[in-house]
Amino acid sequence: MKVRVLGCHGSELQDDQTTAFLINDSLLLDAGTVTSVLTLDEQKKIRSVLVTHSHLDHTKDILFLADNVVGGNNTPIEVISVPKVLKILKFHLLNDKIWPDFTILPTAEEPVLRFRSIKTGTDVSINGLTVKAISVNHTVEAVGYIIRDETSSILYTGDTGPTDKIWKEANKLSNLKAVIVETSFPNHLHALADMSGHLTPFMLKDQLNKLKVPDLSILIFHMKPQYLPELENEIAALGNPNIIILKQGKVFEF
Ligand SMILES: [Zn+2]
Ligand SMILES: [Zn+2]
Repeated sequence: MKVRVLGCHGSELQDDQTTAFLINDSLLLDAGTVTSVLTLDEQKKIRSVLVTHSHLDHTKDILFLADNVVGGNNTPIEVISVPKVLKILKFHLLNDKIWPDFTILPTAEEPVLRFRSIKTGTDVSINGLTVKAISVNHTVEAVGYIIRDETSSILYTGDTGPTDKIWKEANKLSNLKAVIVETSFPNHLHALADMSGHLTPFMLKDQLNKLKVPDLSILIFHMKPQYLPELENEIAALGNPNIIILKQGKVFEF
């Protein structure tokens, strides 16, 4: 499974973009940063977007992606998540006020975007991969995803504070190769992390203690860019050799 990091931050600064990953060139895992880093040809290859939750740092480029590919005679791009997340996208973004409703444009029969609702805890097939959504702990309805092919599984937490279910699911997997886990705020902002449903390095350590799978890559994303140097120091101080702080543009093969 090929995973390309398009953006890996929890906000935006000049050199730091919001969160999105491109899997096997055709599946987006969140869509915070897509259209400013992919060529139009690359954007046209996207067939599905897996969305963890409605926050803009994970969804905003669904809007510009739709605008960029409209009229191209492609089959609709599937926007996939649990029902509550899709409902928020429909009523608060694609509502003909914030942005045109590309779920009925250019025609209701052949729209640019097609919503696909999935249930938590149930395997679904997406672009040849097997995907399971797991509820996590954030300020809005949010899920993480376990994504599998024949040889590997990866786990993506999306945005979450301390949580249990996704780690229990991880411990059942025989071929888990990587977890992509958020760490947003440095330790001195523990109260802010707690109230906003995010992790600090201190809280990350506690989450990773729940993981019983040896020898896997722990890829950190969603660092708030203004705290990056502090986060790098505090994550390094955890002394875990498997931890990698993600950088934009990196490509992994699992
Ligand atoms: Zn976020
Ligand atoms: Zn969020």
